[in-house]
Amino acid sequence: MSRKRESLQSRIEGLRKNFFADLPGRLDKIDKEFHSFLLNPDDSVVQKELHREIHNIKGTAASFGVKNLSAIAVKIEPLLKVVQKEGVGLEAAIVEDIRKLLLQLHLESEKASLTKISDTFKKLGVPAFELETENITESQKKDNKLIYICDDDVVLLDNMKIQLSCFTYLIEGFSNSVDLLKAVEKRIPDVIVMDIVFSDGELEGFDCIRRLHSLYEQKIPVIFVSGRSDFETRLYAVQSGGVAYISKPFKIMELIESLDVIFTSHSLESYRILIVDDDPQIAEYHSLILQDAGMSVRTVTAVHTILDVIHEFKPDLMLVAIYMPVCSGPELAQLIRQIPEFLSLPIVYLSSETEAKNQFSALKVGADGFLTKPIDSDRLISEVLLRTERMAVMRSLMLRDSLTGLLNHTAILKALETAIADAKRRDESVAFAMIDIDHFKKVNDSYGHPMGDQVLLALSRIFMQRVRKSDFVGRYGGEEFAVILTNINIENSKKIVDELRQAFQEVIFNSESATFSCTFSGGVAIYPECDNVLELVEKADSVLYEAKSSGRNRIVCRIKERA
Ligand code: GH3
Ligand code: MG
Ligand code: MG
Repeated sequence: MSRKRESLQSRIEGLRKNFFADLPGRLDKIDKEFHSFLLNPDDSVVQKELHREIHNIKGTAASFGVKNLSAIAVKIEPLLKVVQKEGVGLEAAIVEDIRKLLLQLHLESEKASLTKISDTFKKLGVPAFELETENITESQKKDNKLIYICDDDVVLLDNMKIQLSCFTYLIEGFSNSVDLLKAVEKRIPDVIVMDIVFSDGELEGFDCIRRLHSLYEQKIPVIFVSGRSDFETRLYAVQSGGVAYISKPFKIMELIESLDVIFTSHSLESYRILIVDDDPQIAEYHSLILQDAGMSVRTVTAVHTILDVIHEFKPDLMLVAIYMPVCSGPELAQLIRQIPEFLSLPIVYLSSETEAKNQFSALKVGADGFLTKPIDSDRLISEVLLRTERMAVMRSLMLRDSLTGLLNHTAILKALETAIADAKRRDESVAFAMIDIDHFKKVNDSYGHPMGDQVLLALSRIFMQRVRKSDFVGRYGGEEFAVILTNINIENSKKIVDELRQAFQEVIFNSESATFSCTFSGGVAIYPECDNVLELVEKADSVLYEAKSSGRNRIVCRIKERA
């Protein structure tokens, strides 16, 4: 870590620690001031002092990332103004609200300082939930997302639980908000799916979520599901912090898509940035800033190694210095542009060159931008993000199938070619599976084309969620799919594709007229037995045909007979 950044961070950390250390004292002071304010509401000195303290908490807490604390102060500020103007006698209800919010302020500060919340509950005379040690199962360790669903319709609840489990989510269901709150206290989920109308309250779902948001600093994404679909309810859902709203009756894929959006929107670690700079310290410094923002970064200081790195790391964007020994930045940009694969890779110079003339000539060779050193870290992050995101969108429009979001026919074959080349270099195997949904025509004929599309979507989500990051899934065409499994042997590849088959056949689709499920057949071929794209595709296709003709709903996998 570079010195400059280390000391900046440690200084910020020091300030943050002081803030937490002072917090109890500050809150006690606020309590006392509030008390004297109630006794002497007209005392302008007390009024001002109280207001200033609350205002300071609002700003400082936000700066130190304790957003919930700040949010409570934000709510108190206008209420104080009202009672100062109208008098405490006139506005008894508001005084009570302030009192409650001050209590929340204490709760929040204790939680932020990592004090057991149950102690606070006891102090306040609120029945405490037992804090249990977390019991993490094996599958939870595997990074599966935990979803809490709260709905008093137990049939729907069970159905959602079964369906979502097919998509590798860990699901816990609750039929009332009290049980949900208890569960959150034990373990914070990644998402909450919340019903709105409960038997004991028309707006129980909203109330419960608001309570949660006021108790926890970490904002848990909430998806509301409800039989209501009027404007007021939807607006209320937005105001209660809902990130998605699904009206009942709904198809499970709608819920899956909302979950996909939540889980993919901030996966910055998938952005790969390559920094080329002959000065290792500055390369490391920029690398730290971008890593800190969540991106994957690789640095190259010896320019002659670039070809190996670029093929292996496959960057989404390159930051290149201008003046380097052996090869200048513009020369490097030109060299990279001459490799067809990297024709569209964004290349941005990061240099202390400030002469417009020199910047311009460096850009002429096909680079995408010029950033001047020293660059403010926020600016660096936003410039890199902006370009990488735009590139990701453009690429995905070019490469992705519009219905399923999977790689399209051309892109999956291209991915196969790259996977074979990588495997050759590393002396590994690659499995290629062709998948075809069984009797899919019947699905369309019986339940309609839109329902058929839902089936295709479900299959693609299951595949995406179950394969590793290094694998690829594509829509080969119509109801045919292709999966590339890297660094795998024949037995394991068959096992994995067979697990996909089992997961898919367990999904239950609900059409208006009936409930049904689907199956698929698959054929797997493997590199190096088949040693190029064409052979792999032909082999996989022919064993898929065997799977179909021998009864469907099965995976056939056979290595090439040697002559
Ligand atoms: P088999 O078990 O032999 O594979 O039978 P099948 O009915 O699945 O195969 P067939 O190739 O006869 O039919 C494929 C059907 O897939 C026909 C086509 O209308 C449908 N299809 C292709 N693309 C789409 C799509 O994007 N959406 C929907 N809903 N249907 C599609
Ligand atoms: Mg077909
Ligand atoms: Mg088919």
